[in-house]
Amino acid sequence: MTLTHQDQATRRVFGPVPSRRLGISLGLDIIPYKTCTLDCLYCECGRTTVLTLKRRRFFPPRLLLDELAGVLPAIPHLDFITFSGSGEPTLNSDLGWFIAEIKKAYAAPLAVLTNGTLLFNPEVRRELLGADIILPSLDAARQASFAAINQPCGGLDVESIISGLEAFRREYSGRIWLEEFILK
Ligand code: SF4
Repeated sequence: MTLTHQDQATRRVFGPVPSRRLGISLGLDIIPYKTCTLDCLYCECGRTTVLTLKRRRFFPPRLLLDELAGVLPAIPHLDFITFSGSGEPTLNSDLGWFIAEIKKAYAAPLAVLTNGTLLFNPEVRRELLGADIILPSLDAARQASFAAINQPCGGLDVESIISGLEAFRREYSGRIWLEEFILK
């Protein structure tokens, strides 16, 4: 992969921000803006510009750890370090490495906000095992409403997403906070 100057300059750590669910949370955004498996009608970041299921490396993974090491000493109190942001974090194929390295280096609990669409993939489930809390979303249980609300990438069906959530529940001993969005 060729690394551009812009890749080097992009900020991947944001906050800390007060979160209703997580308290004081330092955010990690590891996906380019609006790169997602879904294009949800309600997305507060706007329309998805790269709709994909393909996991890949988006930047040299060390950059995130260096950025984190640069900001953490100045933060007096933190309830969580949280993978979130403006895209789907499980699309980053370095996610498992990030989780392992951050857990080794820092005491703060680690949360991952995900739309849950890639949990059908055993590798994604394995990578998430090291996190303390996973917050997946599930907006529909029928394919027609899933398609209407979440406008998924081709190849995603809601039954395999629900099966992925069930498999993850069996394999993961940490907390799962399933998030639902109620629409008229
Ligand atoms: S999954 Fe999240 S980031 Fe992706 S389109 Fe839906 S709300 Fe936006």
